[in-house]
Amino acid sequence: MELDLIGKHVLISGGSRGIGRALALAFAHAGARVLACHRDPSPQADRLAAELKEAPGEHLLVQADVTDPTQVDRLLGQARERFGGLDVVVHNAGVISHVPFAELEPEEWHRILDTSLTAAYLLVRGALPLLGPGASVIAVGSRAARAGIPLRAHYTAAKAGLEGLTRSLAKELGPRGIRVNVIAPGVIDSDDTKALPAERRAELTARYSAMTALGRLGRPDEIAGAALFLASGLSSYLTGQTICVDGGI
Ligand code: NDP
Repeated sequence: MELDLIGKHVLISGGSRGIGRALALAFAHAGARVLACHRDPSPQADRLAAELKEAPGEHLLVQADVTDPTQVDRLLGQARERFGGLDVVVHNAGVISHVPFAELEPEEWHRILDTSLTAAYLLVRGALPLLGPGASVIAVGSRAARAGIPLRAHYTAAKAGLEGLTRSLAKELGPRGIRVNVIAPGVIDSDDTKALPAERRAELTARYSAMTALGRLGRPDEIAGAALFLASGLSSYLTGQTICVDGGI
């Protein structure tokens, strides 16, 4: 058994920076053909597009807001036209905010739920006609869904919702040979932490590192490693699971 993702068609949401960037590059360098989307134009998206051009194979980075059903349809239309079908769907797009529950307005609740959870429903339901036996669906959840975190009730509710969605879909789609799993990252040293002032970053890094068995934050490529495994035949008997990639919290 081997990884063997060569020529596989992979759709990744939220592929402009952070974990999504690592996912897109890891799949491209593993020989897959990647269609990734992000919401807004940014220098990070331009940089990733250039990096994907340098990678072997043909890849595409497009703008598509996965909370918008019309844009999801257009994105899946691009997958159909370019690839004819999909072998892997990774719903990675997610947004977070820190709000006391009493001040959590419906608009913000919906923004977070729409991006993490409703978009997963839109993407996976829309992708179903493109997925055949052997396909793998991966949702990027969060270790926070199990731990619970103050000021992030909306975020943890959305990520916990992804786990329920995944378990049900695994049972419903299993007979078609489609596997569905969640990767639940712990604290990853990605763009958000890097953007913090040095002192605050050091304080948070120390605090979160101390919570892990490995004594450090994770890297985006370590989430990508789990995604490659879940996408490949190496995990062919693994479905309906949440894989915590959290350094041992
Ligand atoms: P970033 O904020 O760095 O990147 C988020 C990505 O999602 C960007 O590419 C962004 O695109 C895209 N995105 C956001 N909203 C939409 C949308 N409506 N439509 C399409 N794309 C969208 O996130 P991270 O890399 O830190 O996190 C990636 C995933 O991992 C998220 O689901 C997050 O919840 C989860 N996670 C992250 C952890 C961490 O420590 N970083 C820990 C646990 C879970 P654009 O650039 O256009 O905004």
